[in-house]
Amino acid sequence: MPVNNPFRPPQRNNSLAYVLLFALILTIAYYIFNPQTLGGATKATEIPISQMEEMYQQKKLVSIEVKTDRLNATGIDKKDYTSVRPEGETLKDMGLNDPTNPTEIKAISSETATFWLNMISGWLPVILFVALIIFMAKQLGKGANSAFSFGKSQARVFDHNGKKKTTFADVAGMDESKEELKEVVDFLKNPKKYTKIGAKIPRGVMLVGAPGTGKTLLARAVAGEANVPFFNISGSEFVEMFVGVGASRVRDLFQKAKRNAPCIVFIDEIDAVGRQRGFGMGGGHDEREQTLNQILTEMDGFENETNVIVMAATNRPDILDAALTRPGRFDRRVIIDMPNLVEREEILKVHARNKPMDSTVDLKKVAQQTPGFSGADLENLLNEAAISAAKANHSTVKQADLEHSIEKVGLGPERKSRRLTDEEKKITAYHEVGHALVGHLLPGCDPIHKVSIIPRGMALGVTWSLPEEDVHLKSVSKFKDEICSLLGGYISEKTFFNDVTTGASSDLARATEIARRMVTEYGMSPELGLVTFSERGNSFMGADFGASKNFSEAVAGKIDEAITKLIHEAEERTTQLITNNKELMDKIATELLKKEVLNDEEFAAFFEKTKTTAKKKATKEKME
Ligand code: ADP
Ligand code: MG
Ligand code: ZN
Repeated sequence: MPVNNPFRPPQRNNSLAYVLLFALILTIAYYIFNPQTLGGATKATEIPISQMEEMYQQKKLVSIEVKTDRLNATGIDKKDYTSVRPEGETLKDMGLNDPTNPTEIKAISSETATFWLNMISGWLPVILFVALIIFMAKQLGKGANSAFSFGKSQARVFDHNGKKKTTFADVAGMDESKEELKEVVDFLKNPKKYTKIGAKIPRGVMLVGAPGTGKTLLARAVAGEANVPFFNISGSEFVEMFVGVGASRVRDLFQKAKRNAPCIVFIDEIDAVGRQRGFGMGGGHDEREQTLNQILTEMDGFENETNVIVMAATNRPDILDAALTRPGRFDRRVIIDMPNLVEREEILKVHARNKPMDSTVDLKKVAQQTPGFSGADLENLLNEAAISAAKANHSTVKQADLEHSIEKVGLGPERKSRRLTDEEKKITAYHEVGHALVGHLLPGCDPIHKVSIIPRGMALGVTWSLPEEDVHLKSVSKFKDEICSLLGGYISEKTFFNDVTTGASSDLARATEIARRMVTEYGMSPELGLVTFSERGNSFMGADFGASKNFSEAVAGKIDEAITKLIHEAEERTTQLITNNKELMDKIATELLKKEVLNDEEFAAFFEKTKTTAKKKATKEKME
C-alpha cells in the first residue's frame, strides 16, 4: 500500500494573492485615469452652461455625458467641452431634451455611480490591508513552530520507504515483551483475521518501564515489523502556553493517523498528560485534563475497522489516570524490565556491532560488572569506551577502555583534580575499609568488588559490592547485615580517630531508610507486627508530596522507637567487628592509601578464608 505523506506542505491556494494584486492595479488605474481626481488636468475646454446649451441647439455636439455636477460633451470638432451643471436642474430645465436633436445624451445614473465610487475609494484600502495581513499570516504559518500553527500536532512520522527500519532484531533481549507485541504486529498486518471472527482489535498498548530500558525503541520496532507509518509525539508536546492547544493537537494527530491507517500512534511519556485528574496543584491542570479527555474521546471514537493502534510509554504507571487504562483504551500493558545479565550482554553486542572491538574484549565480563544498567546506559558505556579509545589513538576498543567507562557511567567521572589532604585521605581510607571489612565478614552482605579512595562525583571514596545472585527476596538478617556495613564507615572513623566527619551522612540516611522500610513496609519489627504503615501522598508531585499518615501519633512514636532499636543493634555489632579486627584494618588501610584502589582479589587476599567472587550479578551496591 502506498503511503501518502501527510506532512508534505499543503497545496496553498495562491489565487488569493492574484486577486489582491489585480485589485491593487485596478485601484491605481482608477486614481490615474479618473479625470475628477486629476482636477483641471483634462484636455476638455471649460465653457459656461449657456454656451453648452447653445452648442446643443446648434447641433455642434456629438454627445453629452450628464453627471451630478457636470456636463462633459464631445463636439463634432472632436474637442471635449465641460461645464458646471447648475444644481438641481434637470435635462429639461437645461433644454437638453429635444427628441429631434441627434446629440447623444449619456445620463449616468448619478446616485448609484457615486455610491459605488465612494464605496470603493473609501473601503478598498481597508479591505486590501486586511487581506494583506491574512495573507502574511498564512505565509508565516508555513513555518513549523510559528505562532499560527499551534493547533497542529507536531508528530513526526517515520514511514519505511527505503529507509533503514528498526525491527525486533535491533532490540536485544526482552523476549517476553516482544512476544506480546508480535500480536500487535499481526493485528496491523492481518486485521481481517481478527475482525472476521468478531474479535475487537486492541486500541492501546501501554509500555511500562524505567527510563532507558528501550520503550521508544520497541515501539518503533513494532512499526518496522508491521511495515506501517509510525507517528511519534511526546506527551509534553501537548502541553503548551495556550489552553486548548493540546486538545486540538490530539484531534489533528488522530485525524492524520486515520488517514494513514494502518499505522501506529506513539505517545511517549504519556504521564505528562495522563496524570490522575482532579488534582489542582501546580496549575495548568485544566489544559492537561482537556488534552487527556480528547485522547480518550479519540480512542473511543475509532470504529472497529479503523486499524490504528495507539502505543504509549511511561515510567510512572502509578500516577496514570484510571480512565486511561480501562478496557478499550490502554488495556494492554507490556512491562519492560531492566535487562538481566544475559540481556545486558546481548545489548552490548548490538551496540558493539559498528565499533571495532579488540579481540581480547570480553563483553560478558562487562555485562557482569554492570548490574542495574539500562539499555541506554550500556549504549552510553560503549560510546564512552569508543571515545576514550579514540582519544588514545587506538584503532580498536580495548577491555581497559570498557572497564574505565563502566565506572564513569556508573559513578560519574573520576575527579582527579579534587585533591584531598593527607588527613582527609587517611580518614577516607579507614572509612571505606570499615564498609568493606564489615561487608566482607557478615554473611548477609554482598562480596566486595572494589574499594577506592579516588574521588568520584560527590563521593570521596567508594566501596563497591556486587551480589552473587539475582536477589528478589531479602530476609531480616540480610537487611540487618546491610545496615551494619553501611554503618561500618562511620564506626571505623569513630574507632580510629575518635571523631566523625560529614562523609558518613549519606550512609546514615540510607541505613535509616532501610530500617524504616523494615518497620513500616515489610512488617519486620516484632513490636509493631505485621501491619504496614504507608505514608503515600497523592502522587501528583511525587509520592512524598503532601503525604498523609494513616496512623496515629502514638504509632508514629513506636515506629521511631523500632527504627532506633534496629540502628542501635547494628551499631553494637559493627563496633564489635571493627574493634576485633583493628590490626587487619590498619593493614588494609595502609595498602589502600598506597594503591588508592583495591580490587576484589587484592582485598580478599587479606582474609585467609576468601569468599568466592566468581559470580557477580544483579543489583550493584554503592557506599560512600
Ligand atoms: P526509553 O524510551 O525506555 O527511555 P529508549 O527506547 O529511548 O528508552 O532507549 C534508549 C536507547 O537505549 C535506545 O536508543 C537503544 O539504543 C538503547 N537500548 C535500550 N534497550 C535496548 C535493547 N534492549 N536493545 C538494544 N538497545 C537498547
Ligand atoms: Mg523514551
Ligand atoms: Zn561511606
